[in-house]
Order: sequence, then C-alpha cells, then structure tokens
Amino acid sequence: MEPKRPDVLTITPWLAPIVWEGTFDMAIIKESFKFYNGIIATTVFAVAKYTRYLQDFLETAEKHYMVGLNVHFYVFTDQPAAVPNVTLAAGRQISIIKVPKFSRWQEISMRRMEFIQVAIEERIRHEADYLFCVDVDMKFHSHVGAEILGKLVGVLNPWLHQSARDNFSYERRLISKAYIPYGQGDYYYAGGFFGGHVEDVYKLVTTCRKNLEADKLVEVEAKWQEESHVNRYMLLNKPTKVLSPEYLWDEELGSGGSEIKIIRYATVRKNMKEVRENI
Ligand code: UDP
Ligand code: MN
Repeated sequence: MEPKRPDVLTITPWLAPIVWEGTFDMAIIKESFKFYNGIIATTVFAVAKYTRYLQDFLETAEKHYMVGLNVHFYVFTDQPAAVPNVTLAAGRQISIIKVPKFSRWQEISMRRMEFIQVAIEERIRHEADYLFCVDVDMKFHSHVGAEILGKLVGVLNPWLHQSARDNFSYERRLISKAYIPYGQGDYYYAGGFFGGHVEDVYKLVTTCRKNLEADKLVEVEAKWQEESHVNRYMLLNKPTKVLSPEYLWDEELGSGGSEIKIIRYATVRKNMKEVRENI
C-alpha cells in the first residue's frame, strides 16, 4: 500500500503515531468509538482579560471538538460571572473552578500545572477517563476527535516543527529543571495542548509543578515557562501519540507549507499589550 503522507514523518522512532490529515480513517475511528461512553475532561483557563476568548472557544468546540463524545469542560477563572452561557450538546457540560488572579502573565500561565493537579485530585480522576489541557486564546476550525486519544499525547509546536533539534527553544541553562542539553530532544512540543489518560496527565502536571517550584527557589524561570517543563517531561516520558501542528496552529504562520492540509485548532491574534497583565 502506498503511504498516504510520504511528505511528512508519521511515526516516531519509538513507534508512536504522528497524526496528520490522511493518516487515519475518520469513519473507522468513529465506528470504534460508537459504544464508548467515557468522559473526556478538558481544562481551559480564562483569567483576567482572557475571559473574552471563552465564547468563541466554547462555541467552536461544540462544532468541532470531540463531537458525539462526552466532554466535561473545566473552566478555571477568577471571574465566574464572565463565563458565557453556551448551549452544549447532550453529554457535554461545563464546571467552573475559581482561581486567583496573579499579577504576571507568566505566573498565570505556569500556575496552571498546580491548579490542574489539585482538580485531578479532587474530582477529575473520579469524573473522566481522558484529560486534555488547552489554551483558551484559540478557536477550533475543523475536526478534532477520537483520533487524538491516547495514553500521553503531545502536540508539535507549529513554530518549530521543521527545525533542527539544536534550534528548538528548549531551556538550555543547567540550573533549571527544564534543562535539555544540545544534542538531545526529539521534538519541540507545545505547552498549549497536551493530554492523555487522566493518571498519565497527573504525572506530567505534578512533575512540572514540582520542577517549576524548584526553579522558583533558585530564582530561575525557564525560557518558555511551563512549555519548557513539558518538553523536559516528554523527553523523559515519550508520548504515545504525537499530534501534528494541524492541532495547534498559529495564524501568524499563514496557511503553512504544503504539509498543512487542514487547520483544526488555531490561536486567535491577540494584542499582547492589551490582554496581558504585564509586558
Ligand atoms: N492565561 C490567562 N490569563 C492571562 C494569561 C494567560 O487566562 O492573563 C491563560 C490562558 O488560558 C492562555 C494561557 O494561559 O491561553 C497561556 O497564555 P498565552 O496564551 O498568553 O500564551 P501564548 O500562547 O501566547 O504563549
Ligand atoms: Mn495561547
């Protein structure tokens, strides 16, 4: 049989699939999940000015994200009243979890690990099978479904998916717990989308939280905050499935090269000066 995507890498050296359009048959996957009744937890943070992204995030998720499956969105926010009232399909629900607002955007972003850890301990592990943790300043544009489910799932950062290993923006200072030396590393994964079985994600978030806190004690902040720590974690704990940048696109990159056949989930252009708490 001819390979359907000879233009891209579709399997990692440790035999995890890399999911690109054309590598899977949606009808077969749909059929195999026909009787699947489990819940896919999805965490999203909307703190300070980022509540403005929730409406589009949730509305487009209803159109494209895990359609036909049970999804439990956990919206972490400092302003519960600002969570829009979006009508969800049967089997899908939203829970709001109140979190404090921190003054630095870096801290808002990094502390997600801690709040996700606590939410897994308190409820998510009793309520769901899978957990995906995503950025809110995003919209779904097309299908994101059961093909992404796996034990530990990472997504290729769209900015660096074609870069040579030594150009990945890993944390290079030995003092940080996110350190990855030159000559090591498989891919540059995104911090804005990762997931897997709840207990596997629990290991990731607890490890990243611990390492973020250790860095804080020695007053070092990894180059790309929690994304750097996710990269270190996934170097040591290889994802069992890797998603192509179709699953986390950035419109600043345009429509991408010929390898990008479809854009599924993409950032919304934002005015950093306006939405971020400090620049
Ligand atoms: N975030 C938030 N409020 C903030 C800053 C960040 O809620 O003031 C959350 C939000 O979920 C956002 C994520 O942290 O999607 C990561 O931050 P951001 O999207 O600004 O980082 P980028 O994707 O631009 O690196
Ligand atoms: Mn983002």
